[in-house]
Amino acid sequence: MGPSGRSTTTTSLITGITGQDGTYLTDLLLSRNEHVVGLVRPGDPRRAEFESGHPAVRLVEGDLGDQASLNAALEAANPDQLYNLAAMTMVGQSFSDPETTAQINGVGVLRLLEAVRMVNPEIHFLQASSAEMFGIPDEVPQTEKTAFHPRSPYGAAKVYAHHITINYREAHGIHASSVILYNHESPLRSEEFVTRKITRAAARIAAGLETTLHLGNLAAERDWGFAGDYVSAMQLAVAAPVPGDYVIASGKTHSVEEFCELAFSKVGLDYREHVKVDPALFRPLEPFRLVGNPLRAYTELGWEPATTFDELVGMMVEHDVALIAGQLESSRQTR
Ligand code: GDP
Repeated sequence: MGPSGRSTTTTSLITGITGQDGTYLTDLLLSRNEHVVGLVRPGDPRRAEFESGHPAVRLVEGDLGDQASLNAALEAANPDQLYNLAAMTMVGQSFSDPETTAQINGVGVLRLLEAVRMVNPEIHFLQASSAEMFGIPDEVPQTEKTAFHPRSPYGAAKVYAHHITINYREAHGIHASSVILYNHESPLRSEEFVTRKITRAAARIAAGLETTLHLGNLAAERDWGFAGDYVSAMQLAVAAPVPGDYVIASGKTHSVEEFCELAFSKVGLDYREHVKVDPALFRPLEPFRLVGNPLRAYTELGWEPATTFDELVGMMVEHDVALIAGQLESSRQTR
């Protein structure tokens, strides 16, 4: 026990713990011998799978739409650190459900900060901000000082969350930081995102299970990195002596088409023979020239991405090839 009677082991509460980033962050913090508590929404469909893979993690229930539940969760978890990774994550879907997006991705963050202020203002807070806030940026690459011009309800809600995080830092002295995350992918990415959609399709087509992959805008470009690298930046920001905002990016862009070319080439296929463009999959608006300059994270936090684009695509394709081989094998055995 420390002088305050609290355990000297750091306790982190993670919202959105059952998602891609929550899972990588949990594994990182557990490897550092920290205690991890997860906040889950009542009825989270991924809860059981997360629990079976992470028996050391305690879960408490709470909803970003409900202030009282967040206060109660903070009381129950008594964390030193709070990572907010919960969000309505699909940019495309935010156009059809802008109000829920604003409630969860925007005002939900205010509610968490209010819970910190009321329950224990000593908690270090981390907001997962997004490159979508830049939308059409004034400058390329973007830094922490680049003006915001969001191009989606998702991006607009994230701008509010980013500003309210800074506001609680300045108005209430809370150690509240933001990491402005560019797209970050992994084998745990859900198939609603284009990267996993492509790697899964490449693996299925290579296994002879499918022939065609339907995609939207192949010219869209993103600054893609590996989620496992990006959660390290979150941990470094929370542990830093002073709070701040940090662009977390690879600094390089690739198009959806380049992603396809590389993913299909890794299974010995030519994407041009399998990818078909479907105009129904285009979005009403797209961000433009999103590429981040992570220099501040490098100089102040010592963070830099370890995984290259080629390694990321390779890791995702390999995972999906193995997954499909396993599925085929188990269906053969049950026949
Ligand atoms: P986002 O940057 O968070 O929206 O990540 P996504 O992986 O969902 O989308 C990245 C880019 O891929 C966007 O510009 C999409 O328009 C483009 N894209 C092209 N085809 C598809 C598709 O079939 N699904 C998704 N999700 N995105 C696609």
